[in-house]
Amino acid sequence: MAEVFDAIVLGVGGFGSGAAYHLARRGLRVLGLDRFGPAHDQGSSHGETRIIRKAYFEHSDYVPLLLRAYDLWADLEAESQQQLFWKCGLMLAGLPDSEAISGARFSASQHGLTIENLSASAATNRWPGFRVPDAFDAIFEPDAGFLKVEDCVRTHLDRATAYGATLLFDEPVVSWSSTGREVRVRTATHEFVAASLVITAGSWAASVLADLKLPLQVLRKPVLWFETTSPAYNLDASMPTFYFEMPPVGQVSNVPHTFYGFPSLDGQVLKVAQHSGGDIVTDPLLVDRQLYDADLRPIVNFLQTCLPAVRPQPARHSTCLYTVTPDRHFVVDRHPEFSNVVVGCGFSGHGFKFTSVLGSVFADLATTGRTELPIEFLNLARLSGRKPLAVGRSP
Ligand SMILES: Cc1cc2nc3c(=O)[nH]c(=O)nc-3n(C[C@H](O)[C@H](O)[C@H](O)COP(=O)(O)OP(=O)(O)OC[C@H]3O[C@@H](n4cnc5c(N)ncnc54)[C@H](O)[C@@H]3O)c2cc1C
Repeated sequence: MAEVFDAIVLGVGGFGSGAAYHLARRGLRVLGLDRFGPAHDQGSSHGETRIIRKAYFEHSDYVPLLLRAYDLWADLEAESQQQLFWKCGLMLAGLPDSEAISGARFSASQHGLTIENLSASAATNRWPGFRVPDAFDAIFEPDAGFLKVEDCVRTHLDRATAYGATLLFDEPVVSWSSTGREVRVRTATHEFVAASLVITAGSWAASVLADLKLPLQVLRKPVLWFETTSPAYNLDASMPTFYFEMPPVGQVSNVPHTFYGFPSLDGQVLKVAQHSGGDIVTDPLLVDRQLYDADLRPIVNFLQTCLPAVRPQPARHSTCLYTVTPDRHFVVDRHPEFSNVVVGCGFSGHGFKFTSVLGSVFADLATTGRTELPIEFLNLARLSGRKPLAVGRSP
């Protein structure tokens, strides 16, 4: 006999942990399934930290979601009595017409967000660990900072369990089906039935949702920790998180190289990575997690130009996965054929900060088919070419 639940969450990593928490908190009988263990390091939600910010340069339509995300992170911290968010600010640097600088200014002006505009020399004087190139502008967003990524996932899962959710790990889902009113989910040894299904399968989304033929690309993203030689990089020296948009080099490409990083949390190493680029992964279960010279070279060049008091030999590294859509915007929608199946995928390397708010959106869609939050711009039809079900705001 299949076990029966109100809602099943397929994949309880970053987004699925948020969905399981919000569903369980609303009193539903929730089952969360994952192929790995809690807060594991095989997908997209590991590596210590994630930047969170409001002046969103990728698109100003994300800002209302971000405002709610901040509230929900604060609620989760209060409920769990655990610090998850560090408000150390963010410094963005790039040419005045770069996507990062112009986009952040636009979002800030549209939504009345606080940002400070700084010249390159003013930024370098304020944070002596940086060398901001002369032609660049800088922006400081004081409300930004970072989340401790594994702690966020674990806390969502722990609180979901506290509200009665059943979570099964090392339990890969092998198939699912829906009649539109009932879903059936199978693993190698179990079968489960529920009224609704939330699919948050990260880098496995394209295979779990094979029928939709989603144009998702999985990218291998090494993340590195380097020793610092100056206390200017320390969190307690007011060092912010940072994001640099470096102009394209030479005539080979017109794509900027973007790098980001975090203050040193322990006074010894800081974390830095390249946001642009990345090798395509054909099977997320077979990712090459070694570090190569080609991974290191652009990051070391960046450090030598912009963070010169960081030693160029990495102290350690980790490998993470981006799952990107062609327009680099998320997919948050109901399945085009099954109204009781909710899809969250394609978070394109900038999703984690939203796991609180989109966890609640997935719970809205799974229970009522609607949400008050403005998610229309994240619809699935733009990628699949299929007509979407109406995902309206609540009246
Ligand atoms: C290096 C790096 C840096 C990043 N930096 C930032 C940042 O600074 N700020 C930010 O906001 N975002 C950032 N992101 C993006 C963010 O981390 C991701 O968007 C987010 O973590 C994606 O979460 P997810 O739930 O989609 O994937 P995951 O957390 O990987 O979860 C998917 C889950 O589904 C499970 N699963 C898949 N298939 C099955 C199956 N068949 N059966 C059972 N379980 C299954 C997997 O095991 C996994 O646990 C970064 C990402 C990376 C890789």
